[in-house]
Amino acid sequence: MTAFAELVAPAGWRTVDLISDLHLQASEPATFDAWQGYLQTTPADAIFILGDLFEVWVGDDAAAEPGFEAQCAEVLRAAAQHRPVFFMHGNRDFLVGAAFAARCGLQLLDDPTVLVLHDRRWLLSHGDVLCLEDTEYLQFRAQVRAPSWQSAFLARPLAERRALARSMRTQSEDRKRSPGMVWADVDADAARAWLRQAGATTLVHGHTHRPGKHALGDGLERIVLSDWDVTAHPARAQLLCLSSAGAQRVDLR
Ligand code: MN
Repeated sequence: MTAFAELVAPAGWRTVDLISDLHLQASEPATFDAWQGYLQTTPADAIFILGDLFEVWVGDDAAAEPGFEAQCAEVLRAAAQHRPVFFMHGNRDFLVGAAFAARCGLQLLDDPTVLVLHDRRWLLSHGDVLCLEDTEYLQFRAQVRAPSWQSAFLARPLAERRALARSMRTQSEDRKRSPGMVWADVDADAARAWLRQAGATTLVHGHTHRPGKHALGDGLERIVLSDWDVTAHPARAQLLCLSSAGAQRVDLR
């Protein structure tokens, strides 16, 4: 069993913000604006983005031309000049690469990572890999996380990758609407096993868009982050703030 990645917070950190599942896209400018405003004003000592910041990411070269991705890069770069910004891949933006991270000053995180803050261990994950019931997705995940698949995909012209991503997304929307579709959730046994391996009591993840707090027995628990959609009623723009007092949800809208 390989050890999970571990990040020990410097002693000076008082609060850490966790966000995920913003699904930023050009067609949702209000959520982008809320995110930008949040990054410009948060007093947190570090920001952890736990996946699916972007609705889709087809390669770091997408941000090289003027457009939405380049705009996002600017916002991230500005934020990372003031405090560390960590980024964990989600199932939508797993192709965010080292070039984009370097350009923005992001620090890439393994999934999962143990964050040690004020002597407490928090296990952080996007969460998709723990949704064991979604076997079809997990097969897809294994395929697209393979370096050979990624290098072949990234070798295609940018326009072709954008078109492919659009069609994959349509297929996934169709699948979600199909009758009998089961919404997989994080598997409790798998979550407990991870927590024991990590020597942690709390797992924090996103992905499922079902914010909540679930007791897993034996003092173990998982906290689920909210997705963001500022145009929804009520608007969703929420972070989880970790401090010596524990975890606290903060609604920005
Ligand atoms: Mn996700």
